[in-house]
Amino acid sequence: MLTPTQQRVWDDLLDPGGSRPSVDPGLAGRLRQALETETSDSLERVHAPGTTGGPSWIPGRDPAVVLVSKHLLGQVHQCERQMLASERVGFEWTATIVQGMLAHKAIELKCGSMSSGRAPFAPGQLVQLAGQRLIDDEHGPAAWLRSASAGELAEAYAAAADAVTKFEDSFPPIDARWRPRVESRLKVHLAGGRVELSGKVDLALGQASGHEARTLIIDLKTGRPALGHPADLRWYALLETLRVGVPPYRLASFYLDSGEWRHEDVDENLLWSTIRRVTDGIARLLELRVAHRSPTESPGPACRWCIDRPLCPSASTDLSSPAASEQ
Ligand code: SF4
Repeated sequence: MLTPTQQRVWDDLLDPGGSRPSVDPGLAGRLRQALETETSDSLERVHAPGTTGGPSWIPGRDPAVVLVSKHLLGQVHQCERQMLASERVGFEWTATIVQGMLAHKAIELKCGSMSSGRAPFAPGQLVQLAGQRLIDDEHGPAAWLRSASAGELAEAYAAAADAVTKFEDSFPPIDARWRPRVESRLKVHLAGGRVELSGKVDLALGQASGHEARTLIIDLKTGRPALGHPADLRWYALLETLRVGVPPYRLASFYLDSGEWRHEDVDENLLWSTIRRVTDGIARLLELRVAHRSPTESPGPACRWCIDRPLCPSASTDLSSPAASEQ
């Protein structure tokens, strides 16, 4: 028997009996062409004679490839100066980030065990398994997990188990026939591989059938709704459309703490507006990185947590609005 929230998710979000749109078979090709053209134009502009060209901002990666992620795109649109300041400081694992990774990994293992038909693990067991997987993977927070104090670990594991429990009593049991994909990587290569777009979808259910859109993409959130969440999902929608040739039919941010979600259905307008945001972001990233243009400053809610705030002449002084706490 389903909980009332599971039933709402089933009826209103998954909506198994709802109609699914058929899409124009040429749409994905036109979207890709627009991306290719705009990206090549941007590369040509920044590689004009006199520029050095081509530095990557991900240490250890091929410096000839420009990497674009959801996070980077969000940052460059939010405030260019803040983006560069954050990168100067570099990335550091924190308890909050590791808690999120543990929770996502545990939910991934849960979905895997559900769709394999094996006996279910308890949330605590899933989190322990997830922790072990992360410790074995040197690309993740293994070093943080190995050096954390007993208290830090207990807190991180408890928070992750809380998120898994909330996922369990919010979502109906995941059926293997829904083709669940968890932590699913998406990549698109542009300009002969000189620009790489990448993303990782928390949860995708369903699969396109011919030209019929049948995939639902869900971002699982442990915090509150934020202004950037819809744009993050549209990024995934674009990558999925270019990968499959058919878009997802629906995108949803699901907030585990409240059992609520916000969703929007995907149509051509949404995808074309995403193309404009992405091509504008790529152009700005290339100008900053390759042509070394000075960054613009965009005061707003992000000034509240900006590390460059003490030095920035444009820093917002109005940090009192509720929106200022949204990240
Ligand atoms: S203080 Fe505000 S305007 Fe200045 S760099 Fe930071 S986010 Fe941008």
